[in-house]
Amino acid sequence: MILRLSQLFVRTLRDDPADAEVPSHRLLVRAGYIRRAAPGIYTWLPLGLRVYRKVEQIVRDEMDGIGAQELQFPALLPKEPYEATNRWTEYGDGIFRLKDRKGADYLLGPTHEEMFTLAVKDLYSSYKDLPVWLYQIQTKYRDEARPRAGLMRGREFVMKDSYSFDVDDAGLERSYEAHRAAYVRIFDRLGFDYAIVKATSGAMGGSRSEEFLARLDVGEDTYVRSPGGYAANVEAVTTLAPEPLPYDDVPAAHAEDTPATPTIATLVDHLNEAFPREDRPWEAGDTLKNVLLVLTHPDGSREPLAVGVPGDREVDQKRLEGQLEPTTVEPMTDEEMKAFPALVKGYIGPAHGGRTVLGEESETGIRYLVDPRVVTGTRWVTGANVDGQHVIDLVAGRDFTPDGTIEAAEVRAGDPAPDGSGPLELARGIEMGHVFQLGRKYAEALGLQVLDENGKLVTVTMGSYGIGVSRAVPVIAEYNHDDAGLVWPREISPADVHVVAAGKGEELFAAAERVAEGLSAAGLDVLYDDRAGKVSPGVKFKDAELLGVPTIVVVGKGLADGVVEVKDRRSGEREDVAVDDVVARVTQVVRG
Ligand code: ATP
Ligand code: MG
Repeated sequence: MILRLSQLFVRTLRDDPADAEVPSHRLLVRAGYIRRAAPGIYTWLPLGLRVYRKVEQIVRDEMDGIGAQELQFPALLPKEPYEATNRWTEYGDGIFRLKDRKGADYLLGPTHEEMFTLAVKDLYSSYKDLPVWLYQIQTKYRDEARPRAGLMRGREFVMKDSYSFDVDDAGLERSYEAHRAAYVRIFDRLGFDYAIVKATSGAMGGSRSEEFLARLDVGEDTYVRSPGGYAANVEAVTTLAPEPLPYDDVPAAHAEDTPATPTIATLVDHLNEAFPREDRPWEAGDTLKNVLLVLTHPDGSREPLAVGVPGDREVDQKRLEGQLEPTTVEPMTDEEMKAFPALVKGYIGPAHGGRTVLGEESETGIRYLVDPRVVTGTRWVTGANVDGQHVIDLVAGRDFTPDGTIEAAEVRAGDPAPDGSGPLELARGIEMGHVFQLGRKYAEALGLQVLDENGKLVTVTMGSYGIGVSRAVPVIAEYNHDDAGLVWPREISPADVHVVAAGKGEELFAAAERVAEGLSAAGLDVLYDDRAGKVSPGVKFKDAELLGVPTIVVVGKGLADGVVEVKDRRSGEREDVAVDDVVARVTQVVRG
């Protein structure tokens, strides 16, 4: 097959698009692979579509390889199944909703658990029909709050989603392992540097859950690894709670004047000046920082929440949200704080002087959750709920009792892994795949039951497995580019070889044409730069580098001596090859 650049629907751009923040986005637009249609919504141009289809085919191969069956649901879906599982409500602003002419509600599917569950219920009724693994490669719609980096976080994107249906837990475990293994093969073939990490199951519910994160500095996920093999998304990291401490010798809590100390740093400085410790200086970690938030539940109701963390750590918004999903979280505004006169901004504490200010049973009634490190017997400096005053020697379990704990504090490099496997190291990545055991949540909500061996009705147990197929294209581009442009891996490149007719005259173009035809006849996909007229060899070379086909054949000056140049896009290595041998040589290079 030959794609002729003189006719191909593509325009390369010399300048970066103004809205592109990451290299893959810049280069995919500049090289004419994609165009923006609306925020977070993109068009695949012919070259981009070829790349996308190669990725899709790798995913399809491996899914077919484990015996999963492909089908396709509509993207436009009725509301009712999503109401049955409460996701019509839980998704909140996250989905696109629409009405038909009769006023009936529809949505554009953000993910399809409901539809798969109902399809199996529709067709199957016996344990003999199971297990069954079904998948689709389908466009999904999510009204993401922050679409970014082109196709990496789109509002329209393509996902491969598969679902397993089993009669029992052992079956689910086998289905999960088979999918996990297929994912390993897919991500190996796509050339990702990835980690498989523990995940929170979030809005989906269910139990065992892992993410495949491609290591990427521009990714939005942070994950941790320990020398002993612990790996988790920071959202899922659990904190090792210390043993409770004895507090018999701790003096009674006492409020002290700490004027103008609304921040942890000003407080610590003041403590060291006015109340120096004998053993060591005060540190931020000796203080208890209380952060006020407002939760919005899926049904729209709002609830204040106070979170207490050691003062040397920030509250990590993503970790917090991960624990509370699908509820959303915002900081409490000054206006909202006015409803609680007991709270003094900058000097908030759980209790002192006979008053309890935070907690469900307190004056404010605000639920109060603390970091797992705040165990019974730990001593804190925290707000006294009086302007310019803090309490010293406030003991957890003696002077205040939180309503519970929450994993909201930031995770730091060097923190111990919860399984004792050593200090944690942090890295950035982007979620490429997610496998998890849904269990019976959806089957229960939608009534998916089958008869077991004894003729008894049992609820089916499910797994759900997703891959971001369209996201994979920019991620591959992030891994495979240089200053001059894209550098596609062979299995994903839109063509096997890029032939450049570099020069003028009928003879040169005729020779280049023969080379292109010969390569095509040998079964290779050829991108042929046959542009004549004003397009100089320099422009053609630049475009070849930008487009990123891994092997470039230049038919140019050497022709007088009967040679053409074969160039490796990645290494830049060039060799002169006799025109008559070029098909054999390139075929050898391409086929490895
Ligand atoms: P993320 O944490 O990146 O928002 P998610 O957990 O919401 O992803 P899942 O519901 O698990 O995503 O979807 C399965 C896969 O679909 C993800 O692993 C990811 O590769 C892809 N994906 C999810 N959201 C998007 C998006 N907005 N744009 C492109 N791909 C996406
Ligand atoms: Mg996910």
